[in-house]
Amino acid sequence: SARERNLAKLLSTRLPQHMLHMLHRAGELGDRLQVSVYAVGGFVRDIMLSRPAVEFDDVDLVVEGDGIAFARALAQELGGRVREHRTFMTALIIYHDENGEEQRLDVATARLEYYKYPAALPTVELSSIKMDLFRRDFTINAMALRLNKGQFGCLVDFFGGQSDIQRKTIRIIHALSFVEDPTRIIRAVRFEQRYGFHISTQGEKLIKNALSLNLVEKLSGARILHELNLIFREDEPETCLRRLNELGVLAAIHPSLVLNADKNELLDSLREVIDWYRLLYFKETPELSTLYLMALCSAVPAIETADILHRLGLTPTMREEILSLRESVRMTLVELINWHRDTQKKGQAEQSVSRLCALLAPLPLESTLYLMARSDNEEISSSVSQYIYKWRQIKVDINGDDLHRLGLEPGPQFGSVMRMVLAAKLDGKAETREAQLKLAEELIRKGFPGNGTAGAAPKKPR
Ligand code: ATP
Repeated sequence: SARERNLAKLLSTRLPQHMLHMLHRAGELGDRLQVSVYAVGGFVRDIMLSRPAVEFDDVDLVVEGDGIAFARALAQELGGRVREHRTFMTALIIYHDENGEEQRLDVATARLEYYKYPAALPTVELSSIKMDLFRRDFTINAMALRLNKGQFGCLVDFFGGQSDIQRKTIRIIHALSFVEDPTRIIRAVRFEQRYGFHISTQGEKLIKNALSLNLVEKLSGARILHELNLIFREDEPETCLRRLNELGVLAAIHPSLVLNADKNELLDSLREVIDWYRLLYFKETPELSTLYLMALCSAVPAIETADILHRLGLTPTMREEILSLRESVRMTLVELINWHRDTQKKGQAEQSVSRLCALLAPLPLESTLYLMARSDNEEISSSVSQYIYKWRQIKVDINGDDLHRLGLEPGPQFGSVMRMVLAAKLDGKAETREAQLKLAEELIRKGFPGNGTAGAAPKKPR
């Protein structure tokens, strides 16, 4: 390109030391093996966009030459291992940086190829890195940085990615791009919303065109779901989903996916709930796909929901799972409304926490979070949130040995006593170990009534 830009300075200020070090080593290895090596794709884009350094978790390298041989040699230098994909001439290097953190590095091979347009347009011959970049989705994703010594950090930008970053534009590389791969429509929206860019006017026209040719309808469910899952992991998935809706993409995937006022509201509150849960830093993370699919299918009848999930390539088992989660949320919401009404009554409030826990304990995390998003009763939502961050963590301070010592033989009664003791603890009636031992003793002596259904069930192992 006319004005060669060198990003070496930018790299050294923006990248963590270990990554910069790795890139230099890759370049030096390229010199030794006499191949050109580039960092490509999202990595280059994010360097130029000045995103925070923590986000540079995956680096893609392209080698003009034997990528697999290069990957093996680089893995050896980095003390890592390689996973090779011979058919695609790609390799994944997994290594540990100086801090002992696991790092992943994708290495691809760029070959000289003849590019055939889907239609009968002329065949063109391109240099290998140019070819590699030409096959990518958008100009901002189609830039490379040279890593070889002497040229370390030189920007390779054949398609105007740099100026599209400046103009905040998502632009495809050639007019048949969406025809070639309609999942790029969903990708365009994801990058547009993530960066606050705009899909180019021409791009929007070509999206409309692709939709009128029913190209999205022809995509496999698995490919669509893959792209939707990437959206669900964005910071603000609802903005992407709204844009997809506005462009008619959701309708093209399945007519019942279209957004309405209720779904829009639910998507907003779901995101609030997910953000809130993330700030608690619990180890367990919810399955975002499950949560968002439930929201996108909310108020859609079961048969149609099954049809949507089928369209997205979910197996019958996964479809069943989502449908039954949704059903359990629906039923639990009804029970929670009863519970809430009861807690207002005199004399009932004292068992309120243990009763709430008993209702929520059988639900997986996704259902509980979805329930929070769905509930429009503030007090119920707030109680469910206390369940998530506090009450569901609470355990009894006595164990099986204690019960044994109190004369109870191991058996199903063990669980019942434990549940009733836990319920008492949750309701503030047996907070200390001593109080719990005393209660257990009483229960055993009296040949406690029932099987403890009034108490909280133990947390189900997941
Ligand atoms: P993210 O920040 O979301 O990881 P990314 O750019 O790394 O963004 P990936 O989905 O990991 O996104 O894709 C890596 C690169 O592969 C992209 O930058 C793009 O150049 C290319 N790519 C991915 N999917 C396609 C596609 N469907 N068509 C063309 N190129 C694609």
